[in-house]
Amino acid sequence: MLELEQVRGHLEHLGMTQAATVLDRCLANGAEQNLPSLTVLRQLLEEEMAARHERYLKARTRLSNLPFLKTLADFDFAAQPSVDERQVRDLATLRFVADGQNVILLGPPGVGKTHLAVALSMQAITQGIGTYFIPAHDLVNDLRAAYAENRLERRMRVYLTPKLLVIDEMGYLPFGQMETQVFFQLVSKRYERGASLILTSNKSYGEWGSIFGDSIIAGAILDRLLHRSTTVNIRGESYRLREKRKAGILAPSREVMPAK
Ligand code: ADP
Ligand code: MG
Repeated sequence: MLELEQVRGHLEHLGMTQAATVLDRCLANGAEQNLPSLTVLRQLLEEEMAARHERYLKARTRLSNLPFLKTLADFDFAAQPSVDERQVRDLATLRFVADGQNVILLGPPGVGKTHLAVALSMQAITQGIGTYFIPAHDLVNDLRAAYAENRLERRMRVYLTPKLLVIDEMGYLPFGQMETQVFFQLVSKRYERGASLILTSNKSYGEWGSIFGDSIIAGAILDRLLHRSTTVNIRGESYRLREKRKAGILAPSREVMPAK
């Protein structure tokens, strides 16, 4: 008994908290099944390693700044026939990141663009790919402020380091000239490095010119973004509204008439 407490104490001292927690169970299981001590030791270490990996994934997920946690398993492909499930599953292999390609998710509000971007990000994190998520406007505001304080280059590193950067909601608000400049710099640098982007936008490419404050730079940005890229065009109505409609909260037509 004393020795058991000593072993538990050592495990705790070494920071092997999961092994310390499951020690009793592992030993009891080993005794019951008459397992060799090496097997018991292996099982104990595997429990510790699994718990550490879990913690690592949680920490990476937290650092990646995702707005919510949803996976592909949470995505109802049947509800969104305009999305090619095979194409999305292929993207989820993350080969596009190894190939330095971009993924651009286009479509009206509520159709699942952010959901899919988050799901691909979570998949990337489990593969050990450094991932960072940021709404387009937070990104350009941050870079513009850094430029004004003469520390653009250093700040830029935050957005250059991750192998995968997700820029959400391009085009909900137009960029000013300064914002367009810093965005162009970021896109160029990532392009040169072959570092992937996932972008989401409610604007079609034809409307992208109006996002940027300068049409020449807009062309240069689009060139780099689209050169090696996959576009996922999502059509149809908002999933949120669809759910509300199904629940009878909204009338089936677009307009909800006030009760007289
Ligand atoms: P968008 O970014 O295109 O505006 P979101 O990805 O934020 O839309 O989707 C809005 C909400 O609806 C989210 O909670 C999302 O998880 C959910 N959603 C959208 N499409 C689907 C779908 N096909 N299956 C399951 N949930 C969906
Ligand atoms: Mg969105």
